[in-house]
Amino acid sequence: MKAELIFTGTELLLGHILNTHAQYLGIMLSSMGIEVGLNITVGDNRETMISVLQQALARSSDLIIITGGLGPTTDDITVEVVAEILGLPLILDQESLKNIKRIFQDRGTIMPESNVKQAYLPRGAKILPNSVGTAPGAILEFKNKTLMILPGPPHELTPMFEDVVMAYLSRKIANDEVIRYRNFKLTGISESAVQDLLKDIGGQGNPGIAYMAKPGEIQVRVSARGGAPDQIDKLLEDFAGKVKWRIEKYIFAYDDDILEDLVGKLLMEKGLTIGVAESCTGGLIAARLTDLPGSSAYFKGGIVSYSNEMKNQVLGVSMEILNNSGAVSKETAEAMAAGVRAGTGADLGLAVTGIAGPAGGTAAKPRGLVYIALAADDTTICREHHFPGIRMAVRQGTVNAALNLVRQYLLDVIRET
Ligand code: ATP
Ligand code: MG
Repeated sequence: MKAELIFTGTELLLGHILNTHAQYLGIMLSSMGIEVGLNITVGDNRETMISVLQQALARSSDLIIITGGLGPTTDDITVEVVAEILGLPLILDQESLKNIKRIFQDRGTIMPESNVKQAYLPRGAKILPNSVGTAPGAILEFKNKTLMILPGPPHELTPMFEDVVMAYLSRKIANDEVIRYRNFKLTGISESAVQDLLKDIGGQGNPGIAYMAKPGEIQVRVSARGGAPDQIDKLLEDFAGKVKWRIEKYIFAYDDDILEDLVGKLLMEKGLTIGVAESCTGGLIAARLTDLPGSSAYFKGGIVSYSNEMKNQVLGVSMEILNNSGAVSKETAEAMAAGVRAGTGADLGLAVTGIAGPAGGTAAKPRGLVYIALAADDTTICREHHFPGIRMAVRQGTVNAALNLVRQYLLDVIRET
């Protein structure tokens, strides 16, 4: 299957917004074995959109995905343009209208009349429900081509793609072909270094490997496809096993794991609480831990101790440690963890201290050096990490590694009891 992608939005052309759909859809489609042959970005302009779409329909791709422009405002014209070109009338979809009304009801307001527009879809479209926003997506089968219309906001497009579109495409690719995935999430290593580790392992065909990089996180997605589910599972297991063996020490999560979610569940299961002391992450760990509703059951609180005075006066890290070992050291991290554990009265004290950069590094303590410590009743663990990349990558990598340290500790505790 060959695909082309059309991204709508003048803001993309002007560079106000980075076209993350191009990366996301590129990775996802190629990992499914669908070849993306062309990307086009077009502004919210009727004439240009019409000509781009007409040209796309005249080319040989089997799949055309159009993103953006499904909103209620007058510059959101994607659905109208598609319907016009395909010569299909727009029909009000009652289900979608109900969904849109419900969203406004949940927000405590009444749906503005302009939003009704979002429930009008071309006749014959398979409608893709939007689990987080108002605009439904649509799939149209038209003369041997599949045309998909997906919403602009990434947090709407991603679930729609993963919940419905992937299954739809998988079925289409080869009627009864099965595709299975395994996802590894890594931190503490650069994308090129991961590729180096895996360069002679294969993965250019079936089974396949795809890479996706975010600050502080690299995802390695392994896929296998074929006719017989048992064989696919075996192919995937064997290959994923080999991949995992090479990158294991950098893995912090698998598949769709959300670390803060796993940590929260484990803390609840053990009836334990946690407090955090953060230097280089400036509160990001506390933010992640409190992202989830109900986190007050296990999160006691956090301290952002950026200065030595705070580390000393609030967390009780001795001046001797700070002067002799330095603020970025194993000793300081451990003392911060013990300090925040005592201060918050939590069962576990988690602390991070490091050099996020770009300045502040030395030969002995380079940028990216981070110590993560966890203090518990019976033990204190400390890990030294070297995170590659820019400041944001070091900070996000630290958060992932810190949450993973807690997760591993709790899994060990559970295993031993
Ligand atoms: P809305 O109902 O919010 O208007 P929409 O489906 O009409 O959604 P757009 O108006 O095109 O979509 O875009 C909405 C927002 O989604 C944009 O402000 C932008 O932040 C984001 N967005 C759109 N396209 C992309 C893209 N290709 N990559 C990243 N972000 C995008
Ligand atoms: Mg819009």
